[in-house]
Amino acid sequence: MPGHYSGSFVPFTVSDLAEYKLMSTTWHILGAGSLGTLWATRLARAGVPVRLILRDETRLASYQAGNGLTLVEHGEAHTYPVIGETPDSPTPIHRLLVACKAYDAQAAIAQLQPRLVPDAELILLQNGLGSQDAVAAQLPLARCIFASSTEGAFRDGDWRVVFAGHGYTWLGDARHPTPPLWLDDLHIAGIPHAWSTDILTRLWRKLALNCAINPLTVLYQCRNGGLQNHRCEVATLCGELSELLECAGQPAAALDLQDEVERVIHATAANYSSMYQDVANARRTEISYLLGYACQAAARHQLKLPHLQQLHERLVDELRARGLPRD
Ligand code: NAP
Repeated sequence: MPGHYSGSFVPFTVSDLAEYKLMSTTWHILGAGSLGTLWATRLARAGVPVRLILRDETRLASYQAGNGLTLVEHGEAHTYPVIGETPDSPTPIHRLLVACKAYDAQAAIAQLQPRLVPDAELILLQNGLGSQDAVAAQLPLARCIFASSTEGAFRDGDWRVVFAGHGYTWLGDARHPTPPLWLDDLHIAGIPHAWSTDILTRLWRKLALNCAINPLTVLYQCRNGGLQNHRCEVATLCGELSELLECAGQPAAALDLQDEVERVIHATAANYSSMYQDVANARRTEISYLLGYACQAAARHQLKLPHLQQLHERLVDELRARGLPRD
C-alpha cells in the first residue's frame, strides 16, 4: 500500500538512553487485556515508564495480589512489576494507549476525561472503524492516533499474555501527518511499527478483509480455509465491498481486494477467525465496528449492497440465536 514510512531512528548511546528515559512521558495503558499487556510488558522491559489502568478496585486488588504482568514469548515467561491504578487515580494523563475493545472505548474515555490534559495524546488500538472517530469527537483538543496491528496475542490467565503472532503496527493521524517523537519509545521497546500517512486506508482495507472472511466463518462454523468451499459468495462480497470503498473515498483500499482475501484465506486456512473465536467463547463480538459499520456507511452513501446487508442480518440472527449481544 502506498504512503507509509518508518520513523527515522538515530542510535542512542548508553548515557543518551538513560537521559531519554528520565525525560520520558509516562505511558498510561487502559486495559490489561491481550494487547494492553503485550504493549505494557515490552515498554516496561525497556525501562519506559508505564502505568496500567484497571477497571476498578476489585481488579486492582487482584492485580496487586500477584507480581505484575507476565509476557510469554517463545515459550518463556517473564514478569514485569508494572504499577497498577484505577480510573479515578489523581495523576494527570499525558499519553494514553487505549487497549480495550471498540465497544468499551467511549465509556472508558469518558471515565478518564477529568484526568486527561487538554493536549493529551491517545493511541487507539481498536479494530474496525467508528470507535476512533467517536473518541476523537469526545476529546476535540487531544491528538488521537489511530493504529492498525497485525500482532496477535491472547490471555492464558489473568495478568498473563501469550505473544502468539509477531507482526507490525501501523500508526497514523489523518489530521496531522507529522510523526510524534515518542515513536522512539517503540524502537527502544522493540515494538515493530511504522508511521503511516494513509492510516484510514489501512483501517478500511483491514475492515473489508474482515467483513469478507470473519462473518462467514461464524455462519459456516469453519476455519478460514473452509471458505475455499464458498468462493462465489466470497467473490460477490468482495465486489460489493470494493464498491463501498470506492464510494467512501478509499479507492486504494479496494485495489485487488478479492485477490488479497483469497490469499489470506489460503495462508490462514488452519486458523479460526477472531470473530469465530469470540462467538465460540460466548464473548461479545465487535460486529458494529466491522460489518455493521460497513452497512451503515453504504446506507449513508445510498449504496445498495444486498449481499453485504443480508450477511449482516444473518450474522445478527446467529448472535441472537446464541444469546449474544447483537451490537
Ligand atoms: P481484551 O483481551 O478483551 O482486553 C480488553 C481489556 O480492556 C480487558 O482487560 C478489559 O478489562 C479492559 N477494559 C475494558 N473497559 C475498561 C475500562 N473502562 N477500564 C479499564 N479496563 C477496561 O481485548 P484485546 O484482544 O486486547 O483487543 C483490544 C482491541 O485490539 C480490540 O479492538 C481488538 O479487536 C484489537 N486487536 C486485538 C488483537 C489481539 O491479538 N488480541 C490483534 C489486533 C487487534 P477486564 O479484563 O476487566 O474485562
